[in-house]
Amino acid sequence: MSKKNGKSSKAEKKNTKRAGGNGAKAAKPPKFEKAAKPPKLEKAAKPAKSKKSAKPAKSEKASAKAARRDGVEKLVYFFGDKGSDGDASMKNLLGGKGANLAEMCGIGLPVPPGFTITTEVCTAFDPKKGTYPKPLAGQVDTAIARLETVMGKKFGDTSNPLLVSVRSGARASMPGMMDTVLNLGLNDATVEGLAEKSGNERFAWDSYRRFVQMYGDVVMGLKPESSDERDPFEILIEKKKEKLGVHLDTELTTQHLKELVAEFKAAVKKFAGRPFPTDPKEQLWGAIGAVFKSWTNERATVYRKLNNIPESWGTAVNVQSMVFGNMGTSSATGVAFTRDPGTGERRFYGEFLVNAQGEDVVAGTRTPQQITKVASRDWAKESQTSEKDRAANFPSLEELMPGCNKQLLANSAILEKHYRDMQDLEFTIEDGRLWMLQTRSGKRTAGAAVRIAVEMEKEGLIDRNTAILRVAPEQIDQLLHPTIDAKAAKTLLAKGLGASPGAAAGQVVFSAEAAVAAKAKGIKTILVRNETSPEDIAGMDAAEGILTAKGGRTSHAAVVARGMGKCCVVGCEALRIDYKTGSLSSAGKTVKQGEWITLDGATGSVYLGQVPTSQAKVSGDFGKLMGWADKVRRLKVRANADTPHDADVARGFGAEGIGLCRTEHMFFEGDRIDAVREMILANTLEAREKALDKLLPYQRKDFAGIFKAMNGLPVTVRLLDPPLHEFLPHTDAEYADLAKKTGLKKAQLEETGELLHEFNPMLGHRGCRLAITYPEIYAMQTRAIIEAAVEVAGKGTKVLPEIMIPLVATESELKKLRQLVIDTAEGVLAKKKKKLAYTVGTMIEVPRAALVADAIARHADFFSFGTNDLTQMGFGLSRDDSGRFLPEYVDSGVLDDDPFVTIDQAGIGVLMKIAAEKGRSVKPGLKLGICGEHGGDPRSVIFCDRIDLDYVSCSPYRVPVARLAAAHAALTK
Ligand code: PEP
Ligand code: MG
Repeated sequence: MSKKNGKSSKAEKKNTKRAGGNGAKAAKPPKFEKAAKPPKLEKAAKPAKSKKSAKPAKSEKASAKAARRDGVEKLVYFFGDKGSDGDASMKNLLGGKGANLAEMCGIGLPVPPGFTITTEVCTAFDPKKGTYPKPLAGQVDTAIARLETVMGKKFGDTSNPLLVSVRSGARASMPGMMDTVLNLGLNDATVEGLAEKSGNERFAWDSYRRFVQMYGDVVMGLKPESSDERDPFEILIEKKKEKLGVHLDTELTTQHLKELVAEFKAAVKKFAGRPFPTDPKEQLWGAIGAVFKSWTNERATVYRKLNNIPESWGTAVNVQSMVFGNMGTSSATGVAFTRDPGTGERRFYGEFLVNAQGEDVVAGTRTPQQITKVASRDWAKESQTSEKDRAANFPSLEELMPGCNKQLLANSAILEKHYRDMQDLEFTIEDGRLWMLQTRSGKRTAGAAVRIAVEMEKEGLIDRNTAILRVAPEQIDQLLHPTIDAKAAKTLLAKGLGASPGAAAGQVVFSAEAAVAAKAKGIKTILVRNETSPEDIAGMDAAEGILTAKGGRTSHAAVVARGMGKCCVVGCEALRIDYKTGSLSSAGKTVKQGEWITLDGATGSVYLGQVPTSQAKVSGDFGKLMGWADKVRRLKVRANADTPHDADVARGFGAEGIGLCRTEHMFFEGDRIDAVREMILANTLEAREKALDKLLPYQRKDFAGIFKAMNGLPVTVRLLDPPLHEFLPHTDAEYADLAKKTGLKKAQLEETGELLHEFNPMLGHRGCRLAITYPEIYAMQTRAIIEAAVEVAGKGTKVLPEIMIPLVATESELKKLRQLVIDTAEGVLAKKKKKLAYTVGTMIEVPRAALVADAIARHADFFSFGTNDLTQMGFGLSRDDSGRFLPEYVDSGVLDDDPFVTIDQAGIGVLMKIAAEKGRSVKPGLKLGICGEHGGDPRSVIFCDRIDLDYVSCSPYRVPVARLAAAHAALTK
């Protein structure tokens, strides 16, 4: 078992008994080569903060002043000597752990003393040569000497040895990603000193055994080469146990541990070609180097990528005196949260183990006990443990060590008040004495984040703006969809792109019809397709979730699913779908139609079987927080909605209008598609108008429904956009069916269909180009909009229609089509003898339109950025095919982000800026919005605020996300 997990720090021990002799051997100086370029320190402002601050720490710049005071760069910061050199504001320099350890010392909490080597050393460190900035060696020596004095122990002392932990600690917490070494300073001589001082020989040798194992792994590289391989140290332990016929580690005697230490060392020597170091200083430099190197190990690199943590930040290294939770029954170790991280409830929440090290808590091999008595009783109820059994075998810390418990609660209260946030704590009790080992802002679920923020505001700990900023907009998505139960066991089948969040489990079906038929029988399904087309809409609606092998995040499936608030995974390239046999396979596993799979739309994971999900709840606090957010934001938030149902949902989520109603989606319902096909395949204007006349009443009804739902709020209706061939029949049977319905010849229909084929449909006959050739299409749609508006306005609904023309590239296109829309609308109004205010605007989604936006603005009442197409055309990336290689671009760092997810500010964002500026140079009051998928992405929302758009529009389920992001934008301007 390797001890890479940062949590193992909880197990640290410090020998607190008084110092004895002074027998430390002179250590070999660490090997130093050329000093690297001195790292830059932040500019100084105010003197460094010292102890007893009641307020959150000062700015990092302030504290760094001390760093430069004597002209020598300060690379090592001491903490624990009744105060500290650093403080919580210095996370960039000291990492989160180091800064918080310093801060805790500063406010007088019991922290094992130590020192932090700054992140700048990591940046300057050359892992290949092992070189450090020159002043480091001297500063580490000074810090060790100071630590020895404070602790009354000496490094390498055979009767009273100083032992330390060496742990990583980056600016952002990266749990378990980097390396840790505990119990450093032990060798064959100092172990005897530890045994004597602690009066516990077995404990001393067990610590030594753990140290050799951890150091042998982390520093000397004796570890499994792949995840299939077993840990070489564990193999030796197993062998020993087998030979002795024992099962538990605790059954190994001191003698056996001594033998193991020797065997471990021999194995390390054989592997590394050099002996295990005995000199504590040599051990220390080995560990420091290994921790710095672990900043670039694979785990850490992947984690950084996933969490947008720049490699340039580097990690700090914390060297801290050990304290031991495994010294006997008066020792313990544990973790705690000042509030419940799952629900946000204001109750102390934590677990501990008696006579244990931190990794024992994390590994789950022993049942941890609850800290408070109340929680302990709750736990007993849940785990069906009798009160008698609980009290005897799993008592709370409150019952077992009341003094330490009281102190722990008091310290926690101090920390929460000090940081004004829920804290995640690690502590160790060594022989009845409590030590605080770590504090940091605790990670929490979205629900907990909301509740904690709202309650802390009520308690007066934080103000409203801080409360708003405490909840990440991305996170609240969790509150709106069911999610995978994190604790559930699951088997991964494949991984695609998480396109629409939430979780969904269902039986696999391979066609929209099958999904619809199954729903009618009450069967839950997951619709699995290579890709979806608008025709699949009914099946998508009927299914619990959608999985496609192809397509990116703005593919049809993704856009539609998000609009529906339906879980969706796209671009799952590893899937092999066989429609004929009704099966899919991936990674050697096959799933047949009717078998269960589960999708995680947030991560893109596809699991075998039915993984339990948790239903999302929106608490009253959520509404309250959103209300606060609404008061501070400038940007308006609208929704993309195509049906009255979606419009209702959007309104429920606080949408302030519809920013995009895609009319083409309306053409697939029921038998409307027949009329659409008739229109497309008509060879004469007359025939086309006849087909359009059939569609008119449908459209009018659709618009009336949406206008009613959005009473008093603006509705942007986009006229027909996609290439006509998307609506064409695909199969022989569909052509035959259409021939029957229209009375036209099948061969003739097929011929027209063939003629309409395009090689590049997304750049073809679509959007406003359709209306340039077939103006009657937009005329029909305009008529439907205005007639519907007049109709519902007559019944007391306030209607604010905005008619939007897509895919405009030139001024003349818009000029011509605007005139068509206005002529048609005025014709309807004149006929009905009614007055109605409406506007006519355009999408900016072709790069050329952005560049000539001043000319285009002359004919537009508003612009709405169609950033899906703008990205497609501006970046030259196919929306539907780039899913094949884009993930690799992002994984390998060629691109920081998928430009279809978050606006490429350096490129596409510039086009938007140009268009906004040019448009407003002609019409200062020109209304500007965005309706591409980016409208629901928090980073893009902030960008839209910065370039002064008036609103963002996104799928209904992302409206709260965008509202909160808009508030963050206003508060961080
Ligand atoms: C866009 O291109 O950003 C847009 C909103 O239109 P669609 O996704 O329908 O092409
Ligand atoms: Mg578009």
